[in-house]
Amino acid sequence: MIEENFTDLGINEELAAILKTKGFEHPTPIQKQTIPLILEGKDLIGQAETGSGKTAACAIPLIQQIDKEINDIQVLVLTPTRELALQYLDEVSSFATPYGVTPFVIYGGFNKDIHLAKLKSGVQILVATPGRLIDIIHNHYLALENLKTMVIDEADEMLKMGFIEDVDFIKSCIVQKHQTLLFSATMPEPIKRLAMKYMKGAVHIKLNMAQSVPVNLSHYVIRAERGSKDNTLSEILLKEDIVQSIIFCNTRTRVKTLFKTLQQKIKNIDYLHGGLEQNLRTRIIEKFRAKKIKFLITTDVMARGIDVRSVSHIINYDLPKTSESYVHRTGRTARLGKKGTAISMMTRFDEDVYREIREKYGINPMPFSFSAPSGGQKVSREHHHAGHSRIQPSA
Ligand code: AMP
Repeated sequence: MIEENFTDLGINEELAAILKTKGFEHPTPIQKQTIPLILEGKDLIGQAETGSGKTAACAIPLIQQIDKEINDIQVLVLTPTRELALQYLDEVSSFATPYGVTPFVIYGGFNKDIHLAKLKSGVQILVATPGRLIDIIHNHYLALENLKTMVIDEADEMLKMGFIEDVDFIKSCIVQKHQTLLFSATMPEPIKRLAMKYMKGAVHIKLNMAQSVPVNLSHYVIRAERGSKDNTLSEILLKEDIVQSIIFCNTRTRVKTLFKTLQQKIKNIDYLHGGLEQNLRTRIIEKFRAKKIKFLITTDVMARGIDVRSVSHIINYDLPKTSESYVHRTGRTARLGKKGTAISMMTRFDEDVYREIREKYGINPMPFSFSAPSGGQKVSREHHHAGHSRIQPSA
């Protein structure tokens, strides 16, 4: 079979050549489906498993559509976290800058004067978290008259309470006709209905129809009581063959407490949550990407979209409160076809969400066990295929 190229999808030779230098030779499935529609100006919801190339699926055609003569914001991308905004900018910049298009990112916790000065100098693609964007719209000036496309990344999260008011407000500031693109790995039905109100004749691209989680991800579960979690976790961290791991807790306090407990025993461990000062958050992510941190304890602030290829293990120290969060957290591994392992500790209080993970997403975690609990031998454990996600259509 001859593999498709970006030019077959309507991407011009100049941009395709730039993509090639970045190692993007052939489009991924979500890119094949969405790029032609985005170029046509259609509104759409793009739903595909995490790590499937959703960011580029959106960024590549939008870069091509920028009118280089107009030095104003033409594309606005909203993301729920600052880390994701920065990562989005990185990916967009790698193609946009050599193509002669100017992207920029604004987010809370960073010097606003620098943001304002850069915006004044002319930005064509703006990536933003809602808070800082609204602050600038309210208190300063932001030219949105030339905006052609609005992208809502991690759309189901952005349309939930707490964010929806912000998104509504930002939407109301764009008075001219524009294209709206929503991307996420999960899209619960009530949120989708809400999303449709934002769009005109939108197409819902749902990849592999039945699939929203990676198939190369093995899921395991350990039944634990609250008091035994710390020891079980230390054992996993010491015995498992882990390249890098993200360890999720449900609250900031639990992140900090767990870090304090593990810090003595485990090397190269650190923590991150939304309550830390932004510069520190950025530095920790950079260290994690550079593999200077092996184990990162965190909250759901890291659950969505973050792309660190070498993450081999996701550990849920706490099972999350929603099945969507489980899909996003575990999707931080097994990126773009790689293998990954997710290990979740669950207590008897987690039964409801555990059932939903199985029923809604067809994930059937296998019991995790240490075959050699003492003697420091490496844990041997079969990678059961039954433990892989066999996905039914999500509700
Ligand atoms: P995403 O799902 O957007 O987080 O993307 C996952 C990873 O795949 C990112 O590191 C992208 O840079 C990479 N990627 C996306 N599309 C392609 C492509 N067509 N060829 C090679 N790598 C890609």
